[in-house]
Amino acid sequence: MIVDRRRALRDDAGWALPMTTAAQEQQAIDAVPKELFIAGEWREGAGGARLSVEDPATGGALCEVADGTPDDARAALDAAVEAQDSWAQTPPVERAEILHRAFEAMNERTDELALLMTLEMGKALPEARAEIVYAAEFFRWFSGEALRIDGSYKVAGNGASRVWVMRQPVGPCYFITPWNFPCAMGTRKLGPAIAAGCTMVWKPAQQTPLSALAQTKILEDCGLPPGVLNVIMSSSSSGVSAPIISDSRLRKLSFTGSTEVGRKLIAQSAENVLRVSMELGGNAPFLVFDDADIDAVIEGALLAKMRNIGEACTSANRFHIAAPRAEEFTSRLVERMSALRLGRGTEEGVDTGPLIDADQRAKVSALVADAVERGAEALVGGRDVDGAGYFYEPTVLGGVTADARVLSEEIFGPVAPVTTFDSTDEAIAAANDTEYGLVAYVFTRDLDRALHVCERLDTGMIGLNQGIVSNAGAPFGGVKQSGIGREGGNEGIDEYLETKYVAIRV
Ligand code: NAP
Repeated sequence: MIVDRRRALRDDAGWALPMTTAAQEQQAIDAVPKELFIAGEWREGAGGARLSVEDPATGGALCEVADGTPDDARAALDAAVEAQDSWAQTPPVERAEILHRAFEAMNERTDELALLMTLEMGKALPEARAEIVYAAEFFRWFSGEALRIDGSYKVAGNGASRVWVMRQPVGPCYFITPWNFPCAMGTRKLGPAIAAGCTMVWKPAQQTPLSALAQTKILEDCGLPPGVLNVIMSSSSSGVSAPIISDSRLRKLSFTGSTEVGRKLIAQSAENVLRVSMELGGNAPFLVFDDADIDAVIEGALLAKMRNIGEACTSANRFHIAAPRAEEFTSRLVERMSALRLGRGTEEGVDTGPLIDADQRAKVSALVADAVERGAEALVGGRDVDGAGYFYEPTVLGGVTADARVLSEEIFGPVAPVTTFDSTDEAIAAANDTEYGLVAYVFTRDLDRALHVCERLDTGMIGLNQGIVSNAGAPFGGVKQSGIGREGGNEGIDEYLETKYVAIRV
C-alpha cells in the first residue's frame, strides 16, 4: 500500500499535512511503464520524443512518457487488426475471466492507482479512490455481459424459412478519452470491447497518460493477449488519429470529449462509414421545485457541482430554483461552498483540487467575468488563487442574467450560477434551452410533478432527488449534441456488436 493514512494534523494557520511523502509519490510514478504498448510490447515512440506529464497542483513536471507518431499509430492498428480474429474466437468465459481478474486487481491496488490519478489530474485522493472503484465496476459488469451475448431463432411469417440472428464483434476499435476521469472513461470502453471480442487502439489524453498506462499494465498482467489492446500517447492527437480513422480496417470509433472535437471526428468517420459512439459535452440544469427537501437539495447540489472540481460532463452547469426557495438555497450553497478546502489532492482534508491547466482556468475566469459584467454578483469566490498550480475558488454567482455565457456554455469548473423560475413550464423550457442533452437534476417530493418533468426533459439521463447518475449497470449517454450511443448497462455491449441475420430455407 502506497498511501499513508495518517490522522489529519493541522497547525494554527490551517495548513493540511500531506498524506503522501515525496518518496511514495515517486514510487507510484516509477511503477508505471512510460512507453507505448503495441502488439504486447512496451516500446518507445518511432521518433524517440518524450511527452512531459505535469502536476496541476504545482505546475511541476512529474515524469515523461513516450510521444507517439503517426507511424506508431499505424503499427498499433496493425497489431489490433492482426489480433482480431483469434480474439473474437476466444471463449467468452476466458474474456470474462480476464475482466474479472482486472476488476479485482484494480480494487486491490486502489490506493496506488488513486495516487497516480491525483498526481496527474489533481482531484483529491478520496475522489480518486472513488473513481478507481467506479472504473473497476465496468470490468465487473462487462465480465458478466461477456457470457450473455445472445442471438435469436424464429420461424418466418410465411413458414417457409427460418430467421437466425447472431451477434458478433464489430472488429478493431479506436478509443479516444479525456483527462477528467482518466480511468473510468477508459474502462467504460475497454470493458465492453473486451467482453464482445473486439481489439483496440487507445489514445488517452496527453495530460493523464499514467492512469491509462497503469490500467493497461493491469490488463496485461491479467492475461489480455498481445495486440488486443494497444496504447499510444501523443502530443499530436489529430496527427496520430488521422491514419487510424482513415484506415478501412478500423470498424469503430468511440470518443469521449468535447462536442467540438466530437463533431470533427464524426465527419472524419464518415469517409469509411465507421460505427461511432460519442460521449460529448454537457450543460446540466439543476431544477429545484418549491416542495423540495432542502437538505437533499444542498447535498445533491454540492455533489453535482463539485464532484471532480466541476470538471465533469455531468456537472450541474446552472441552478434553476423556484423563486420562493431561491434565497434559502443560495445562502445554504454559499455557506457550504465557502467551507470547501482547496489544496493539492494528496493533502489531508482537501475537498477541491486545481483545474487541469492554465487554459481551463482562463476559460472559467472568462465565463465568470462575462457574467459579472452583465450584472451577476460573485457571492463567494470568483477569482483565481494566487501561487503555484491552477486553483480557482469555489464560486456562487447570484443575479445571473439570461444572456450570460455561463448559462449556455459548459463551465468545467467550480462555478455555480443561480437563476429563478416561477412555473414548472418555465423551468422545463429553461432546462431544455441548450444544444446539449446529457443530464438534468430534478428535486421535488411531488411524484406527479417528477414524472411530468422527467418525461419532458430532453436529456439522456436524470438525477431525481440525487446529484449523481454514474453507475456501471446503467446506460450512460446523452441526446442532442451531447452524443450518440450508451456506455454501461445492458446497452453498453451493443455498441461493440454487429447483428448478422441468416435466412434459412427449409
Ligand atoms: P477534448 O479537448 O475534446 O479532448 C478529448 C480527447 O480528444 C483527448 O484525448 C484529446 O487529445 C483528443 N483530441 C482533441 N482534439 C483531437 C483531434 N482533432 N483528433 C483526435 N483527437 C483529439 O476534451 P477534454 O477537454 O479532454 O475533455 C473535456 C470534455 O469532455 C468536456 O466537454 C466534457 O463534457 C467531455 N466529457 C464527456 C463525457 C461524457 O460521457 N459525455 C465524459 C467526460 C468528459 P489531447 O489530450 O491531445 O488534447
